[in-house]
Amino acid sequence: MSKLRIAIQKSGRLYEDSVTLLRECGIELRNVKDRLRTESDNFPIEVFFLRDDDIPQYVEDGVADIGIVGENVLIEKEKTVVVVEKLGFGKCRLSVAIPRSEEWQGAASLAGRRIATSYPVLVGQYLEHNGIRAEIHEISGSVEIAPGIGLADVVADLVSSGGTLFMNGLKEVETILQSQAVLVRNERLQPEQLQLLERLLFRIQAVKKAKRNKYVLMNAPNDRLQEIIALLPGMRSPTVLPLAESGWSSVHSVLSEDEFWDRIERLKAAGAEGILVIPIEKMVM
Ligand code: ATP
Ligand code: ZN
Repeated sequence: MSKLRIAIQKSGRLYEDSVTLLRECGIELRNVKDRLRTESDNFPIEVFFLRDDDIPQYVEDGVADIGIVGENVLIEKEKTVVVVEKLGFGKCRLSVAIPRSEEWQGAASLAGRRIATSYPVLVGQYLEHNGIRAEIHEISGSVEIAPGIGLADVVADLVSSGGTLFMNGLKEVETILQSQAVLVRNERLQPEQLQLLERLLFRIQAVKKAKRNKYVLMNAPNDRLQEIIALLPGMRSPTVLPLAESGWSSVHSVLSEDEFWDRIERLKAAGAEGILVIPIEKMVM
């Protein structure tokens, strides 16, 4: 039987979340530690562990059918693959950072300067888009120390909190790209592999949806039920069950993250009591 071959990062910032995602999709992997490849006993999948920089190439060449990689790396490598799904982890941004003592007057401040980065393609596109000429110095790691040691004037580096830049006397002044991990696939997958990808994607979407939603239960006085129900969406409509104590009901529903706190406050104000919030493991629509 044919397998779906997926490339994920061997170690680093995307490793844990990638393995966890597969696990949450019910895919158990045989001992993943220090392996170059592994398989699953309960899903026809083969996992390759690679440097993230190599993943776009492997997927383009069809050595792997699909892969998990940051958008930053994907765009930088200029490989032809299909983005199937944004995964919501590995969030970061590629930003321009300059010495804290300097003033930033927009992209023009970069004219004629030396920019250290691991992303020459992305930075090149940014400069071109802004009509600026500057020198790009490609370095593969520890970009943030380049200005301090005189290797460059400014940097363009990945940031999530900004702490590393600050410790190196730099300040973030402009975002070139917002990035997160994405699932990509080879352009010309075989029908069997496409079908397996559909199955995997169905599970990934159920996991993602569950993470965005919470199961809530609360007690509601019957005379305010209508008002409370109106505040709750639910998959179809809320479940209402009578409590042993007369005049009261138990109301169950599903709330999404973005409206969560707002609704909880309004539910309380409408007389709901004993509100319980429970994480959802999977949500299949
Ligand atoms: P590899 O050995 O696989 O080449 P790496 O050192 O290039 O690893 P990591 O630092 O593990 O890569 O980062 C992998 C990806 O994680 C990045 O390409 C980016 O998409 C994402 N990422 C999320 N937050 C950050 C961050 N603060 N700094 C760097 N990368 C981040
Ligand atoms: Zn890398």
